[in-house]
Amino acid sequence: MTGFRYLRPASLGQALAALQREGEGGRPVAGGTDLLVAVRHGKAAPRAVVDVTRVPELREVREEEDGTLLLGAAITHAEAAESPLVRRLAPVLAQACAAVGSVQVRNLGTVGGNAVNASVAADTLPALAVLRARFQVAGPGGERRVPLEDFFRGPGATCLASGELLTAIRIPLEPPHGAAFLKVGRRRAAAISRLSVAAMANPETGLARVALGAVFPRPQRLTGAEEVLHRGFSEPFLEEAGRAAEAAVRGVSGGRPSMAYKLPVARRCVTRALRQALEAFAAGRGEVPA
Ligand SMILES: Cc1cc2nc3c(=O)[nH]c(=O)nc-3n(C[C@H](O)[C@H](O)[C@H](O)COP(=O)(O)OP(=O)(O)OC[C@H]3O[C@@H](n4cnc5c(N)ncnc54)[C@H](O)[C@@H]3O)c2cc1C
Repeated sequence: MTGFRYLRPASLGQALAALQREGEGGRPVAGGTDLLVAVRHGKAAPRAVVDVTRVPELREVREEEDGTLLLGAAITHAEAAESPLVRRLAPVLAQACAAVGSVQVRNLGTVGGNAVNASVAADTLPALAVLRARFQVAGPGGERRVPLEDFFRGPGATCLASGELLTAIRIPLEPPHGAAFLKVGRRRAAAISRLSVAAMANPETGLARVALGAVFPRPQRLTGAEEVLHRGFSEPFLEEAGRAAEAAVRGVSGGRPSMAYKLPVARRCVTRALRQALEAFAAGRGEVPA
């Protein structure tokens, strides 16, 4: 493993200044669960890493007056999964965070790191897609807010420039709704998703959102499936939404062998996730059960 200097700034200003000073040789680090693996495998060789976990702005979780939930980028998966605010206001994200890796990975890995790493299999990304998250970015030029559709450029690629930090994820609040996150892995524990589904539903307001993970090059909602649900939420529509999801997956399959497996699994998981989201709504507990 290459050596690198480890910097641990205590303010956003110091963190940005350190990144600017280090230039291309500097990399932010939060939990290190992706970056250190990349260093070990020779896929990254930073001269300095700038640990952002002590920057107060990146450690906040609060409900804003403008009707958004603000989640600091350095909140760990365990913290997000256990946060009463996240569980109540963005239950699908709490469920996705609870599904990441193992206890150790959830205690170190952050929601911000998961987003910036931009793996196609990242568990929080379909949840953030159905929540219509916006990304708050700070850099030498000031702050900017980027919608999810513009933040991700493709597998492993985001719109962040060198010297920029993701400071927070902003989630516009929805009226109470049911939510579900399902994940299919090769094994039961600590598995990277082969496919994941995030769903939100409220049959009273007509809210219906669904997104798949580990299928598309970047997080993407299944608008075809959502349109089906605009006609109703009864079982035949849930089944039809599943078929619409399968058609969307087929559209990007490119004949890859894994798709023979993913097509029927996507169909069934989308129907099941929507069913579970509706059950959660009916049970009056949009939030994650304790
Ligand atoms: C054993 C194991 C199991 C795993 N299982 C899962 C799983 O089930 N699901 C899943 O989704 N992921 C999984 N992962 C991947 C990883 O744990 C997550 O992606 C995690 O959320 C990354 O967060 P981190 O804080 O550790 O990121 P880091 O490794 O610290 O950083 C990741 C990338 O983001 C950059 N970065 C970090 N924070 C910021 C910031 N605030 N601003 C700008 N850039 C930043 C870093 O420079 C780096 O490029 C697993 C990893 C391991 C090792």
